[in-house]
Amino acid sequence: MADPFSGVEETLFVRHIAIVGSGPAGYYTAEAALKLWGDNVRVDIFDTLPVPFGLIRSGVAPDHQSIKAVSRRYEATALTDNVRFVGNVMIGRDVSVPELQNLYDAVVLATGAPHDRKLGLPGEDLPNVFGSASFVGWYNGHPNFADLDPLLSHDTAVIVGNGNVALDCARILAKSQEEFHGSDIVAHALEQLGTSKIRRVVILGRRGPHQIAMTPKELGELGHLARACPMVDPADLPDPAEDAALEPGQRKSVTHLRAFAQNGAESEGCAGKDVVIAFDFFAAPKALIGESRVEEIEVERTRLDGGKAVGTGETYRIPAGLVIACIGYQTSPIPDVPFDIAGGRFANDEGRIAPGLYCVGWARRGPTGTIGTNRPDGYAIIEKIAEDIAVLGDEGSGKAGRPGFDQLAEERALHVVKFADWKKIEEAETANARTGAPREKFVAVDHMIEAARKD
Ligand SMILES: Cc1cc2nc3c(=O)[nH]c(=O)nc-3n(C[C@H](O)[C@H](O)[C@H](O)COP(=O)(O)OP(=O)(O)OC[C@H]3O[C@@H](n4cnc5c(N)ncnc54)[C@H](O)[C@@H]3O)c2cc1C
Repeated sequence: MADPFSGVEETLFVRHIAIVGSGPAGYYTAEAALKLWGDNVRVDIFDTLPVPFGLIRSGVAPDHQSIKAVSRRYEATALTDNVRFVGNVMIGRDVSVPELQNLYDAVVLATGAPHDRKLGLPGEDLPNVFGSASFVGWYNGHPNFADLDPLLSHDTAVIVGNGNVALDCARILAKSQEEFHGSDIVAHALEQLGTSKIRRVVILGRRGPHQIAMTPKELGELGHLARACPMVDPADLPDPAEDAALEPGQRKSVTHLRAFAQNGAESEGCAGKDVVIAFDFFAAPKALIGESRVEEIEVERTRLDGGKAVGTGETYRIPAGLVIACIGYQTSPIPDVPFDIAGGRFANDEGRIAPGLYCVGWARRGPTGTIGTNRPDGYAIIEKIAEDIAVLGDEGSGKAGRPGFDQLAEERALHVVKFADWKKIEEAETANARTGAPREKFVAVDHMIEAARKD
């Protein structure tokens, strides 16, 4: 089949596309629309926040600046006249999805999956038990979580989950202040981590080393921390001969775990290191226990049965003053949009929700995959939209597009933040940076808007 993106498609009318969400999925979708339709498309990218880029800004770890640099690519898309950033507008609150559908030929929901999945365990609402969206949002300066104020006064923290987000949280808790040099961790988090009494970070996984969803680079980083030492109980590791059956990336990850198993018993500690990161495999959390805040977590030992973790009935407790659940996310429902409750995302058939309404990225497939996974997703949805729009014929839909939205925004007195305004926010954040840091983020929407309004 011919590649629809190999050249700009000739059209007789301009397509009006609304994308809701300015994370990777939103920007790759805009990039694909530009590639397909060139000057014959106008794309508006809406975001609740006055700042763009979704989890690139508020999810990707602050000490992984090279990964955050992908936003420069999105900027190339953002800075063309045919694409607009429409920040500080929440779809479903300020403007409804049916209103957008009346104005644009296609509406694409790229709203991500910003809510923590619940553990579903007794005690999970105790103070100092957080989901990773909150904890990560706190150290990354997301306005919704800037006030989280986690207590770091107990010597043990437990992290539930065996994916890369669990590793991010463990690393942030374990790093020394000096190791944040060059990162954009926000000042309130850096200061609070500086007072931390945490000396043991336990990472709980229901299954074993062969079942982890941690990538080799992120896992390997734990072996090079200045004051922390990763440990694995050698008894949890399968026979080395079994590693041969793993796919190469997973095999590399398991090789790191085997190296961590040589760090000696936890009681001996690692020479010169004062923080232990202990992997506790075959361990399923059962309850969180405490009075005014979490004090302990009850865990059941598991074993594998056909790849699934099953409880053995043996339980034990880990005293812990902070618990972070890194077990996945779900999309926020939006009024008038069909929702798949079990899947935690919009109900869709390969991105199609209803005529003229689509979804992409984490809002379509759930919280899986890397930043790059969203690129083919964005291109695929534009291909589907092109197919669907083709039925409009040479006349087009006659929808109002941008001017129609601008009129609505004026009637509702919405304070839209444009890309040029964001550049002013960014400039102020760069100017406020501490030595060595790329920026000091504003963590309050009001402060972002104030910076955007400055001449
Ligand atoms: C903690 C964490 C760390 C990660 N680290 C990495 C990493 O190192 N490398 C990597 O490759 N991947 C990483 N990922 C995965 C990567 O961030 C995702 O693949 C990607 O961000 C998903 O893109 P998205 O556009 O679907 O969603 P998001 O990035 O979440 O963007 C959604 C956007 O929609 C906006 N929005 C939501 N609702 C509305 C609404 N109603 N109206 C208007 N706007 C709305 C949000 O404000 C947000 O800007 C990480 C993920 C997490 C959670």
